[in-house]
Amino acid sequence: MSGFAGSSAAGDGEERLLVPLSALNHFLFCERRCALIHSENVFVTNAFVAQGNRVHERVDVGGYANRRGCRTVRALPLFNDRLGLTGRADLVEFWPRPGGGEEPRPVDYKRGRRAAWDNDRVQLCAQAFCLEEMFATTVRSGSVYHALSRRRTRVDFTADLRRLTVDTIAAVRRLLASGAVPAPVYRPRCHGCSFEDSCLPAQSPHADRLSRYLRDLFQPKAAP
Ligand code: SF4
Repeated sequence: MSGFAGSSAAGDGEERLLVPLSALNHFLFCERRCALIHSENVFVTNAFVAQGNRVHERVDVGGYANRRGCRTVRALPLFNDRLGLTGRADLVEFWPRPGGGEEPRPVDYKRGRRAAWDNDRVQLCAQAFCLEEMFATTVRSGSVYHALSRRRTRVDFTADLRRLTVDTIAAVRRLLASGAVPAPVYRPRCHGCSFEDSCLPAQSPHADRLSRYLRDLFQPKAAP
């Protein structure tokens, strides 16, 4: 029986909260962004987000194919019961193993230029955890496809990366279970973040304006 029956049911507690795979990426980019999207259900689009959506249009459709010696599945739903993960892989390649059977390798699509970011590597490694449980196999590597460079970066699922991913899953679960929205911290990455105009991180480093606004917005007002 699953230890993670629900993602947000009242009283479920931290140990039963499912962690979306995308939350791992958001968390390592910015804890506040992660909480706004996954706790407060707020999402703001900007040009970069729109470009990212375009990149995903083809893989989001789903489908099967055989190409270059492997079987591919697009938009494959993923789940890991032991770790309480849920999400979807943009693309999974199933490569034949010399001794028989297949090895799944996840491919994650990203908008930007070729680079190695921990947040992308951790999200991919968590996809590998799901595939390992779903197919009762070992997944040794995957790749991130960078749309602007039209290149892939191979990611090996080393012991260090697996440890970082497990630690990140636990940290995200704690954050989402707490319901807290961390205050904005002004960093270079804020430029380009779709929440920049709402957080105003450069002007009010300790303010939490967006959360207060959203909380007040949905509070019933006393009749005059
Ligand atoms: S603008 Fe900065 S502080 Fe606000 S969510 Fe984005 S990265 Fe985080």
